[in-house]
Amino acid sequence: MPKWSKEAVIGFIPVMFVFLAFIGVNIVPLLVAGMLIGALFFIVKMKGGIAVGAGGERKRKKNGPAKLTFEEIGGQDNAKQELREALDFLIRHEEIKKFGIRPLKGILLTGPPGTGKTLMAKAAAHYTNSVFVAASGSEFVEMYVGVGAGRIRDLFKDARTRAAKENKQSAIIFIDEIDVIGGKREGGQQREYDQTLNQLLTEMDGIFTADAPRILVIAATNRKEMLDSALLRPGRFDRHIQVDLPDKKGRAHILKLHAGNKPLGADVDLDKIAEEAYGFSGAQLESVMNEAAIYTMRANEEYILQRHLSMAIDKVMMGERSDRESNIEEKKRVAIHELGHAIMAELVRPGSVKQVALSPRGKALGYVRHNPQQEQYLYTKSFLEEQIMIALGGAAAEEMYYGGRSTGSSNDFEQSLNIVETMMKSGLTSLGIINMNMVTTEELMKENNVILEDLMNRTKFLLGQNRAIFDNSLDILMREEILSGDQFRCQFRENTLLPA
Ligand code: ATP
Repeated sequence: MPKWSKEAVIGFIPVMFVFLAFIGVNIVPLLVAGMLIGALFFIVKMKGGIAVGAGGERKRKKNGPAKLTFEEIGGQDNAKQELREALDFLIRHEEIKKFGIRPLKGILLTGPPGTGKTLMAKAAAHYTNSVFVAASGSEFVEMYVGVGAGRIRDLFKDARTRAAKENKQSAIIFIDEIDVIGGKREGGQQREYDQTLNQLLTEMDGIFTADAPRILVIAATNRKEMLDSALLRPGRFDRHIQVDLPDKKGRAHILKLHAGNKPLGADVDLDKIAEEAYGFSGAQLESVMNEAAIYTMRANEEYILQRHLSMAIDKVMMGERSDRESNIEEKKRVAIHELGHAIMAELVRPGSVKQVALSPRGKALGYVRHNPQQEQYLYTKSFLEEQIMIALGGAAAEEMYYGGRSTGSSNDFEQSLNIVETMMKSGLTSLGIINMNMVTTEELMKENNVILEDLMNRTKFLLGQNRAIFDNSLDILMREEILSGDQFRCQFRENTLLPA
């Protein structure tokens, strides 16, 4: 039952009794029956059959036995190390007390979705032999004032009760999406969220080393900058651990972990798949292994082969193949658009195109697959400009052939604008080193337009110079719907204006 309807029912019952008494109905039998049902419900709840209070349905799922160990989490070596060190505070509590160190009350895990933050919290519970109680920020959001705060109280109470019942010395409370209740508070306006957040702060302030069970709150967010400073101050969530997207070694580790229960063929090279899965999160890598197994099963084969894994990467990256049929004119426009990206990519990074395809996938009508990139954490201005030129290649090519653009470039423009913003924030534009708040919107707009216009002109010029490659590749793509990287580079070699 949705939470709001549960509260509506709770509010409705007393009103109904008062109304019935008012119109002269004898409510005593009803009251007795109600009390019996209530007592029955309470007994079932105490036996653990029904979980009510903070979390409800989702909590029951998440709270399941926290048997997970750190060894079952792929990559994330630094985060795991930092977390283990922090958890020693919970384990070595006697020493902590001796030195008068205040207890560690909150750890904040920050990082993109699907990187294993929940897994880390579960492993933390296993490592410290604590009970694990979990809830998500969105579960505390209610339209009735005070309900969210009540749920926070229940959550802490639940942790303490379970620790006592299971005879454990400590409890870990995991709150996912903490930003939902812990967002920055604006002015003196009292909102329901404020009460919930205040309750969380009060509960955390009431955690002491001497108390049994010792409580540690682990929260997760992918929007740390949104959090209220009261939440981050010393004594609350003052230990921050970054859980980043895995690097190549981490990706290979995660793939190996998820391959554990699957039959892998002799040709499978998980390191190669990890290389191709650049930028994937742990959750996406898990999905790659799962999809590959599904492809294998559908093909009635016994073992997962490398090609199943490659197909799975395409699916996770770009969505399932769709059977959307487009007319010939639309198909040609898509081919021109994709070739615009591909030619720019090959010009600025020779050898980078793996495949250009016209088959619709997810929302896209066509796509360019790039060869795996090298892991990179710092980007130069010219690298970012080249990236924008690759993104603008699609729209530039449409202009070159048709004299105008289509709606197919909106994602490319969004990507370009994001890169320009990064350049501005990094002091890589003619605005110099700036704080974005110091500059007016007009100034930002002007600089943005200057950069994008210049790069668009350079893109059009380069595409125009390579028109022969374009025309030949377009013929092949329209005929075969797929152009491999090698076929594509062959066009470059046969042309006089070769990049390499
Ligand atoms: P969100 O921010 O969306 O809540 P999260 O960071 O908490 O995501 P998890 O829920 O921990 O991510 O991970 C989701 C799933 O992805 C896991 O159940 C697991 O299958 C897989 N996964 C993610 N990261 C890893 C990892 N480092 N090692 C192994 N599996 C992982």
